[in-house]
Amino acid sequence: MNDFLTVKDIQMIYQTPAEETMAVKNVSFSAEKGQFVSIVGPSGCGKSTILSCMAGLRQQQAGQIYLEGRQIQHSRDRIGYMLQSDNLMPWRSVWRNVTLGLEIKKKLDDENCSYAQQLLEKYDLWQFKDSFPSQLSGGMRQRVALIRTLALKPEVLLLDEAFSALDYQTRVKVSCDVYEILRRENKTIVMVTHDIPEAVSMSDRVIILSKRPAVVQKVVDIQLGAREDNPVKRRTHPNFQNYFNSIWRELMYDEKGGIIS
Ligand code: ADP
Ligand code: MG
Repeated sequence: MNDFLTVKDIQMIYQTPAEETMAVKNVSFSAEKGQFVSIVGPSGCGKSTILSCMAGLRQQQAGQIYLEGRQIQHSRDRIGYMLQSDNLMPWRSVWRNVTLGLEIKKKLDDENCSYAQQLLEKYDLWQFKDSFPSQLSGGMRQRVALIRTLALKPEVLLLDEAFSALDYQTRVKVSCDVYEILRRENKTIVMVTHDIPEAVSMSDRVIILSKRPAVVQKVVDIQLGAREDNPVKRRTHPNFQNYFNSIWRELMYDEKGGIIS
């Protein structure tokens, strides 16, 4: 198995007293080290479920997830997870939010604190270390949340609609900042988004899921200029619109050309 991260034949059924819901029927995909992979698909098709299985927060009924050939349950420390809401604690300063994960995992030593400080300095937030979340913009809060996740030195980052609480302009700007941080730190990313331009502009690979229960409908490998180019520049690439159109078609229309309801 050459791929760094492999999701193989996972299936997930939710059971409640009233009913069973098959959320994920059979999903397989892979990512190489340092790759940026996005998952898109209709609302409620099982995207967050897949990510929570990858984070080890839920156990799939069938299938396996491997990180460098080992089952991911044994590698939880190598995975970071970031959600839509920044989940910062309003009563803690930026510094005490950024070091919260280290505190919980009892890893608050000099080396890790100095790494957290370096990240805040490198990404222009050190001067706000004593500020509280309410004193920051939405974009800054999301960067603080990202640095809190990175302070734990994960190799894989899972992002679930991480920018969707932000207004459009901030969202594009923050996704650009986050992209540059993650590329520079050479992380492997799996991002769930419902925003096709966001997926195309940030990813090396887009996985398109069917409606629930999710199966992989198509995988699109994206090439838009150099790796260093940021998502805003990638949006201006001549092939950007072609990728957008093909993913849009895949999500909107069935084989007979009818709109998927
Ligand atoms: P997405 O992230 O693609 O919008 P989710 O993975 O959140 O979709 O949900 C997929 C399906 O599973 C939905 O039909 C949802 O109602 C159902 N579901 C999600 N979480 C639970 C749960 N804890 N219990 C029962 N059903 C759930
Ligand atoms: Mg979701």
